[in-house]
Amino acid sequence: MAALSDILIIGGGIAGLSAAASLAEQARVTVLEAEEQVGYHASGRSATMLHYALGDRLVRALTLASRPFFDEPPDGFSEAPLGRRMPVLVFAREDERAALDALEAEIARFVSLERLDARGVHALCPLLKDDAVHGIADRDGIRIDQHALLQGNVRSLRAKGGSLRTEVRVRSIKRLAGAWHVATEQGESFSAPILVNAAGAWTDAVAGLAGVQPLGLEPKRRTIITFDAPPGTTLDALPFAKTVGDELYFAPESGRLFASPMDEVPSDPCDAQPDDYEVALAAFRMEERTIVKVERIHSKWSGLRTFAPDRHPVAGFAPDAEGFFWLAGQGGFGLQTSPAMAAVAASLIAGAPWPVADVTPAELGPARFG
Ligand SMILES: Cc1cc2nc3c(=O)[nH]c(=O)nc-3n(C[C@H](O)[C@H](O)[C@H](O)COP(=O)(O)OP(=O)(O)OC[C@H]3O[C@@H](n4cnc5c(N)ncnc54)[C@H](O)[C@@H]3O)c2cc1C
Repeated sequence: MAALSDILIIGGGIAGLSAAASLAEQARVTVLEAEEQVGYHASGRSATMLHYALGDRLVRALTLASRPFFDEPPDGFSEAPLGRRMPVLVFAREDERAALDALEAEIARFVSLERLDARGVHALCPLLKDDAVHGIADRDGIRIDQHALLQGNVRSLRAKGGSLRTEVRVRSIKRLAGAWHVATEQGESFSAPILVNAAGAWTDAVAGLAGVQPLGLEPKRRTIITFDAPPGTTLDALPFAKTVGDELYFAPESGRLFASPMDEVPSDPCDAQPDDYEVALAAFRMEERTIVKVERIHSKWSGLRTFAPDRHPVAGFAPDAEGFFWLAGQGGFGLQTSPAMAAVAASLIAGAPWPVADVTPAELGPARFG
């Protein structure tokens, strides 16, 4: 006998869980997650920053709309704060000044920025080499606590009567008599009139199981390493620091530093593992742009950031399959935009108010890919 819900959500990452917590206000929601733990894939492997130095107008608008949720989470949402303040510094050499000017003009529409000269850049991040002579700083970035965010959504889902099933990998999906019928590798069945595809790197594969046209979503691997800071570094005072181009970012991490070479290596959906080349590239770029010597790498990990062809997230009903809802393509901004994207899903599925003034449903909908 199949377990009945109003809405089935495939994927227990931040996309699926945040939408589930939001939709459970109005509907019986069940989340199906293949792994033993929620957030095992991209959502548990991120750099956990909320900042405006990535993406474009649409991504920044979704980030801005999400911000109040991080500042004041709903009552009972989480036992711990969802993050802590961390300044964000984008730095540039003299030859990168024009790119920094352009980025400043873009970001300044969303958040208040400070323009820094060489002295200001080094006061905020003493680890940078002398060639970092220009910077923009957002003193109000947030380092998100990904555990608190994921578990807060699980708590909120359960408090509203929704359910989360882990270790259930969806194997087949059929539409029969006005409902989606889902069978798992473990031999269980679930059904509901609405199916939300929030399977991260696997979203196109899950669509394929349901006979729905894929959107051309591309998983891309990103790598992070951790290592010691120079002795005497005041780690707590350091910002999340990023080159103006997509070359390097680094920040304090549990008594050490982390860095990423901002790699985007196309990958099949999988349990992503770091490649030696990107690990070495992270260390090389860190030494190229800072005074830090990466003598020993303490830990390393990779995750898949999954992008739609236009690098905007996708939220909306499939034009070719009744009751099939896409929630995909969260790229490198899936944590920081999750409150707005969950509210978008609740609006389109359950008729809640549209949450983001500067973004239209058509800009997020799957029909934009024809
Ligand atoms: C290195 C790195 C740095 C990042 N930095 C940031 C950052 O600073 N800020 C930010 O906001 N974002 C960042 N991101 C991006 C963010 O992590 C992602 O956008 C977000 O986690 C995507 O969430 P998701 O729920 O779509 O995917 P996932 O977390 O991957 O969840 C999808 C889930 O679907 C499940 N699933 C797949 N197929 C099936 C099936 N057949 N049956 C059942 N379950 C299935 C998977 O097991 C998985 O748990 C970063 C990502 C990486 C990798």
